[in-house]
Amino acid sequence: MKKTTSRAKRNLARYRAKRDFARTPEPSGSSAAAAHGALQYVVQKHDATRLHYDFRLEHDGVLWSWAVPKGPSLSPGDRRLAMRTEDHPLAYAEFEGVIPEGEYGGGQVLVWDHGTWQAEGDASAQLRRGKLSFSLHGEKLRGRFHLVRGRAERGRERWLLFKGNDQWAADEEVLTTQPER
Ligand code: MN
Repeated sequence: MKKTTSRAKRNLARYRAKRDFARTPEPSGSSAAAAHGALQYVVQKHDATRLHYDFRLEHDGVLWSWAVPKGPSLSPGDRRLAMRTEDHPLAYAEFEGVIPEGEYGGGQVLVWDHGTWQAEGDASAQLRRGKLSFSLHGEKLRGRFHLVRGRAERGRERWLLFKGNDQWAADEEVLTTQPER
């Protein structure tokens, strides 16, 4: 078992503060993380007040998270707004279910894609600099992707998520052609 680090626990304070775990079926992140050789990647389709796709990358015991209103694209020309959200517990990568109406993020959550990811270099340093380049090994999303930070808006970090140019780039509207897991 891989231990949840103390840094991961601190990073989850914002996640926990937003949720009442007596009411939501989401994981509290209190249990130790499962052991994984490779770092997890997941996209969750979240039918909340507004449908969006939550894009998450495992790093140092938590899931770095972005909410992508229009969802990811396989076309390098599509730069999708990605609002950084609070780090989530690793157990969240497996979460599917219905968050009750009236609770934070109320609505259905489905795992749309999952797999592993690999940063091109030092992921922490890239995140701090606001330019993260990485490869995804998912079932729907594969190959190079980039996340680039823009201006903050009302204290929230705005990033752009887009596909890198490689053999996996495509014009396919993957959100429509493959709407389910
Ligand atoms: Mn969400």
